[in-house]
Amino acid sequence: MHRDIDRVLISQYQIGARVRELAQKITDDHLSGQERDRAEITIVPILTGAMIFCGDLIRQIPIQMRIGLLAVSSYPGENIRTQGSKILGQQLGDIHGRHVLLVDDILDSGGTIKAVVPLLESQGTASVKTCVLLRKDRPGVQNVQADYVGFDIPDEFVVGYGLDYNDYYRNLPDIVTLKREIISNSKK
Ligand code: 5GP
Ligand code: MG
Repeated sequence: MHRDIDRVLISQYQIGARVRELAQKITDDHLSGQERDRAEITIVPILTGAMIFCGDLIRQIPIQMRIGLLAVSSYPGENIRTQGSKILGQQLGDIHGRHVLLVDDILDSGGTIKAVVPLLESQGTASVKTCVLLRKDRPGVQNVQADYVGFDIPDEFVVGYGLDYNDYYRNLPDIVTLKREIISNSKK
């Protein structure tokens, strides 16, 4: 696994520091809009990529919370360009009247967030905010904004810290690029 790495783009230490900042900001924003003692939030990670980021993030958000799950596929198998977002499954519980924070690993074309936010809103949420660990530098792809962004990165294919290639590499602690030969046989 490690010999497939080309270079480390963002180290686990940089990620850790930034996740703490994001959690602080999310907590402050959320508490400023609600009565402190009754504040509640529903976190919805988009599986599978956001699983690790979300696990680290929420343990630093000291607010009463529920977790809903959404599984979305956009890069099935060996693709490294989005094939369109498909909702594979959901276990959201009752999100009517709730403040929802959608958590995703990376904002690329914007297709995922564009598909998922209306789905949540259609269930009568009080608010929906979005948090992504990474945002690719692809100007205006679908004009999708995220409320919280961890890092802006160049338009390169990355894996690690939850992100996969053909379902592998999610357990790498850093965000890395892969050697060219690893992905050179894929359908681009
Ligand atoms: P979007 O719908 O914004 O085009 O893409 C979002 C999804 O595409 C992400 O949640 C992620 O699953 C996948 N994705 C986009 N860019 C990358 C990347 O560089 N590496 C990996 N592993 N997945 C990516
Ligand atoms: Mg994803």
